[in-house]
Amino acid sequence: MSIHKGSIMRIFSAQAWLEDGWKNNVTISIENGEITAIETQVVKKPGDITVDTLMPALANLHSHSFQRAMAGMTEYRAAGQDSFWTWRTLMYQFLEHLTPEHIEAIAALVFMEMQEAGYASVGEFHYVHRQAGGGSYDDPAELTNRVFCAANLSGIGLTHLPVLYSYGGVEKAALNGGQLRFGNNLEEFEALVRSSKSSLASSNNDTRIGIAPHSLRATAPDELATVVASFRDGPIHIHIAEQPKEVQDVQAWLGARPVEWLLENMDVDQKWCLIHATHMTDKETVDLAASGAVAGLCPITEANLGDGPFNGPAYLNAGGGFGLGSDSNIRISLTEELRTLEYSQRLRDLRRNVMVQGEGSVGKALYLGAAQGGAQALNRKAGKIAVGNLADLVAINSGHQSLFGLSSDQLFDGLCFAADDSSVTDVWSAGRHMVQGGEHIHRSQIIRHYKSTMVELTKLIS
Ligand code: ZN
Repeated sequence: MSIHKGSIMRIFSAQAWLEDGWKNNVTISIENGEITAIETQVVKKPGDITVDTLMPALANLHSHSFQRAMAGMTEYRAAGQDSFWTWRTLMYQFLEHLTPEHIEAIAALVFMEMQEAGYASVGEFHYVHRQAGGGSYDDPAELTNRVFCAANLSGIGLTHLPVLYSYGGVEKAALNGGQLRFGNNLEEFEALVRSSKSSLASSNNDTRIGIAPHSLRATAPDELATVVASFRDGPIHIHIAEQPKEVQDVQAWLGARPVEWLLENMDVDQKWCLIHATHMTDKETVDLAASGAVAGLCPITEANLGDGPFNGPAYLNAGGGFGLGSDSNIRISLTEELRTLEYSQRLRDLRRNVMVQGEGSVGKALYLGAAQGGAQALNRKAGKIAVGNLADLVAINSGHQSLFGLSSDQLFDGLCFAADDSSVTDVWSAGRHMVQGGEHIHRSQIIRHYKSTMVELTKLIS
């Protein structure tokens, strides 16, 4: 680890994106994970860590890390209907065999891959709480603690979001099958959140705890109101309108579409993040934007699961905030996440350059919009390079062949549309210098552990 409590780290960057644009010959000073000074037009000093191009690093606001181990296992057409719901059935089968050790090893790989892709932090929407079959672990926070261990090893900034998952579907349907690992009643859930908060003492000081009522279909209105009242500080994340069937089911049960119902019945504000606000009417879109909540978009997963495109132009025109998540972790790539969002809009609207208000760079609007929304959703003082903010930073090599020849102003577009993540050279998560020379500092250990986990798991599920 390159930083110790109380020590000052200095990064010298040939160029950096600061609050007022690109600046040359920039030095950033970091102490206890925070940016304490920014100087421009300076010369490099002995001991400075040197990078080419420094930018604020994004938060990955939505992850179910265990699903990474299924990547590539559900891409075949089964007999009968092929849909999100058959994917979910396979996910439940997979859950029958996951041990705490597996969950920790997979999460460490996911967090490492996120950092190597340029993310500094993650919102882990954590809903596997129990043993297969539904029995409790001796410590009900066993699996939460495994996520904390993985985050500590990877050094990623963690916003942990324990999930309340009470029902197998709308109208309080009973949990069954793989869902038995998710269930908690309100008392158990509140104890889990309290236990998570008590783990903060042994975690990095930028670790945050929020709550995640899973969805309207997996909770009930009275329970939702209770947990939101109990943990009103937030962040509060919820899956909201991913699938048309979900919209129909909620409408039949509660008499309103999911986004419509939530905005009418909960005090939705800046502390909220609505994941997969995919299926919205124009009125829902404008009302969500006005609420100040963040729309948590997961373009690669939404494409993989056939969810549908987000209502981007109307939302941006109404001033809505958004951030990016990798959700199922079928592929962890920041650049691909950005371009998949834009391309989903282009394919639907048959035009180019959609996700920007007025005139300007699409890549810059996407990247900086996601930086701001992601930081808000994870309750991190981040999203821009500024004194007093967490040092969530990414360095890229502007001389990489995918970016070569671009002006500074075109770099965001190059990243968004032309590059993969291999131009990333360094990542700091709250000042922890975890990616150096393009690789995570614990890469070989994390991959070794992940591979032995997959050997075990594939034997168990075959
Ligand atoms: Zn999700």
